[in-house]
Amino acid sequence: MSLPVPVVWSEDCLRHEPGGEVWLGVRDEGTEVPARALVLRAALTAAGALVVPAVRHGDEILRTVHDPELVDHLAGVWRDWEAAGLPAGYGRDRVVPYVFPTAGMLAGLPERSPPAVHGRAGLYCYDTMTLVGPGSWPAIRGAADAALTAAGLVCSGERLAYALCRPPGHHVTRRAYGGSCYLNNAAIAAQALRAAGAGQIVILDIDAHHGNGTQMIFYDRADVWYGSLHVDPGAGWFPHYAGYPEERGRGEGEGFNRNRPLAPGAGDDDWLAALSALCDEARALEPDAVVVSLGLDAAATDPESPLCVTEAGYRTAGRLVAALAPTVLVQEGGYDLASLGGLAVAVLSGAAEGAGLRASS
Ligand SMILES: [Zn+2]
Repeated sequence: MSLPVPVVWSEDCLRHEPGGEVWLGVRDEGTEVPARALVLRAALTAAGALVVPAVRHGDEILRTVHDPELVDHLAGVWRDWEAAGLPAGYGRDRVVPYVFPTAGMLAGLPERSPPAVHGRAGLYCYDTMTLVGPGSWPAIRGAADAALTAAGLVCSGERLAYALCRPPGHHVTRRAYGGSCYLNNAAIAAQALRAAGAGQIVILDIDAHHGNGTQMIFYDRADVWYGSLHVDPGAGWFPHYAGYPEERGRGEGEGFNRNRPLAPGAGDDDWLAALSALCDEARALEPDAVVVSLGLDAAATDPESPLCVTEAGYRTAGRLVAALAPTVLVQEGGYDLASLGGLAVAVLSGAAEGAGLRASS
């Protein structure tokens, strides 16, 4: 039997070695490691999925979704960090910001781009957990290319495609990165589908954490509806500042954003009930295409969230979302190396069923 879902992959995604994360002032090992991608690729290959190399795309869609200054910053910040002597002279082996120009700090002053790279690092990054090293940019770009390639497959008639993106992306806003994410791969896929002629897009974010970046990128737009189920930020979970039910969109986007926070400890029943409600709402929009922010960190085994979803739950989720319309699945979180592969096979098998695809024998 073979899993009838193309797995789009860029070898460059392995080059990002964040070297841990600074959480609450202490550098930990971190869980967003290259081995995640290897485990996912191995499990999907073993299940018979075809691996499709990501095709290099131009920057147009990246620079539509994101402020071009953010893209330029990410492309050059390691080079500037090295040129400033920070790794060799000061033992700073990764880019970590230490000052952030918050609204409270500036109090109305214009936002400048300081010449010193260690000052500038906090202009485009909102936390201390999202480190940049020498191989980060090629990996970030490779993940974006995987998302663009998967979107292209769906545009050219595939019913389903999966982008094995690493690093993940849904915490990146138009102008700021964080949450172990650098460019917003799901938003890039959605924008590519729009550019190729799809009218109404639905994004379903089933990562355990709220996709604050994706929400805010499309917050003022009606052409891309965003729905998320995630652990309640009000119960003390990242991203803390977004993901609440009252966030419903703005202006033309009013009513095109839906958050369904869940209590810590929620399992299959609550999670799938919330997802079904999101799917009902999405179906009413008669979407031309669906983008799934596929986090596998809602699993009970995952160290990064308190949700308790099972493999069977993920399989049902795949079936529900892929039944809606042609679907691009974009990898987000998921950190338990022992269970990650089984979860990915489960959700993609469910998606194939939902899309009406038959496994070839
Ligand atoms: Zn997550």
